[in-house]
Amino acid sequence: MRTRAAVLREPGQPWQVTELDLDEPGAEEVRIRFVAAGMCHSDQHMRTGHSVGRLPMVGGHEGAGVVEAVGEHVTRVRVGDHVVCSFIPACGTCRYCATGRQNLCDQGATMLTGELPGGGFRFHDDTGADLGGMCMLGTFSQHAVVGQASCVPIDHDIPFPVAALVGCGVPTGWGTAVYAAGVRPGETVVIFGAGGVGTNAVQGARHAGARHIIVVDPVALKRDNALKFGATHVFADADAAHAAVVEMTRGRLADHAICTVGVLEAEVVTRAAAIVGKGAQVTITSVGRSGEKQIQLAANGTVVGYQRRIQGHVFGMCNPLYDIPRLLRLYREGQLMLDELITRTYRLDEIEQGYQDLEDGRLIRGVILHD
Ligand SMILES: [Zn+2]
Ligand SMILES: [Zn+2]
Repeated sequence: MRTRAAVLREPGQPWQVTELDLDEPGAEEVRIRFVAAGMCHSDQHMRTGHSVGRLPMVGGHEGAGVVEAVGEHVTRVRVGDHVVCSFIPACGTCRYCATGRQNLCDQGATMLTGELPGGGFRFHDDTGADLGGMCMLGTFSQHAVVGQASCVPIDHDIPFPVAALVGCGVPTGWGTAVYAAGVRPGETVVIFGAGGVGTNAVQGARHAGARHIIVVDPVALKRDNALKFGATHVFADADAAHAAVVEMTRGRLADHAICTVGVLEAEVVTRAAAIVGKGAQVTITSVGRSGEKQIQLAANGTVVGYQRRIQGHVFGMCNPLYDIPRLLRLYREGQLMLDELITRTYRLDEIEQGYQDLEDGRLIRGVILHD
């Protein structure tokens, strides 16, 4: 069949909205009609060349839609099911899935090429070139064929635009605070960067019972927004935040620093390490530029002697099959704010405008609604 999709051909070039051929689903594959796709920063990292993947590629790794067709041996979903696509697959049987760490599933190995676990690519352009989907998904296409391991069925009453966000940005941010940082009641948490991911780290820190949730972001819109999501203090720069943390902790400094800035740079990690106290943790969520060093710390006086930890993670250490339905249940019960994350919706043809708005600091999250 034919599908319309936003494609990246070369780093630094604009998104190209074009028609592609789409294969039928293979043995453990599912064809999805995407209704909504979240505009995560990671796709834009591919567009700018900060991240390197196999091009050409269909963008988009946050998506929700309806199952249109299933291949032989598909057991997780049926035609007509509503699904969220998880940006990391969860096969359920690899070493990591079997030990409760679905976020490290071995099937994630080809996320940056888009090759499916069954081998090969399902998108093809008119020159005969094969295209993968970002994170083996490609949610910036109206239709896509994905592995069943990427599919998480959801209830039919959940709106697609909010469901889409629970495939990447929401669990990544929320899980950063709840699982990767392991925030506990009464702790002081400093969050650097309050975009789509950082805002959810604020929600996670609130759920975990943090006493002070301090947000550092130069953009006024994001600071104001963070206050609505549960931040207790907001600052435009790290110096002001540092002085306030010294004051509010009587010099003991913060228990956690979380890096959720748009592009990770060494400066923010240095700032984060300086704002936490003894036995505390810096948790890094942001993606940096490929080939650059983002961590430059003196061991003495930073980690050694102060027992500080630097923790990286994937998907906020969430288990997609457990945490995606759980977060949507919290949303339905009014405990997790998702509608408020969506600043604007766009048609697929407006994708360049959408990412420009993101770069200009005008969005918490943009969502593409497919025609
Ligand atoms: Zn993402
Ligand atoms: Zn697995």
